[in-house]
Amino acid sequence: MTYKRILLKLSGEALMGTQQYGIDAERLMQYATEIKTVASKGVEVAVVIGGGNIFRGVQAAAFGLDRVQGDYMGMLATVINSMALQSALEKIDVSTRLLSGLTIQQVCEPYIRRRAVRHLEKGRVVIFGAGIGSPYFTTDSAASLRAIEIEADVVLKGTRVDGIYTADPEKDPSATKFEEISFDAVIEKNLNVMDMTAFTLCKENNLPIIVFDMNTEGNLERLLAGEPLGTLVNSSGKSDRAATVQPATRA
Ligand code: UDP
Repeated sequence: MTYKRILLKLSGEALMGTQQYGIDAERLMQYATEIKTVASKGVEVAVVIGGGNIFRGVQAAAFGLDRVQGDYMGMLATVINSMALQSALEKIDVSTRLLSGLTIQQVCEPYIRRRAVRHLEKGRVVIFGAGIGSPYFTTDSAASLRAIEIEADVVLKGTRVDGIYTADPEKDPSATKFEEISFDAVIEKNLNVMDMTAFTLCKENNLPIIVFDMNTEGNLERLLAGEPLGTLVNSSGKSDRAATVQPATRA
């Protein structure tokens, strides 16, 4: 396996599957199974899940409610998703721990970095809930920050598109995919990989990001086995080469 310790970022929205809201059981079990496969091969797996399938802070502002209150609601939404993933993993006999950025001691451990690392060393899948526990951040920021803290080798950002394109492939059919791109080129070309706070954290700490399609079964395992899936963002970007022109694919 190419990486020893990974931080897998899953979007809350992807958990909806084909539904309009909430958690799709099939998608949840698919994610759990994929995680089990790579964990059983000795990869240390930490996971951050978003909450967009339940609530986002900006929605509160749209209702005329307080933004900060909304952000805390969003963080609680990520705890719900994290608990669902924890249960799904336990159902298939994967040992897990849920560590939360907000103290909710009845259901999760508080986030303590050394503890997280210890769990990983013992082969447990560690799920980080409640983002970083502060408003005005996103779960992408949580993924970057936690990955740096636990010294993960890479952030794997699972999305429904199979990489980073020259333009949004869902809107522009002529968009082409990058195999590899540098942090600087992403900024210069104004490409949307993650929010800038999260992205800058990775850039400044030289933590590579791979954006890949998590909804195609087996992709996580293939990626970790070294198949050139998705787009790798790192400091060199190897000439920011565009892959042989590929049409956008989506699961
Ligand atoms: N959130 C926050 N601080 C954090 C992480 C999350 O305030 O450290 C809130 C924020 O309101 C965000 C919501 O939780 O909109 C859900 O997370 P996110 O939008 O990142 O989820 P995703 O888009 O990945 O489903």
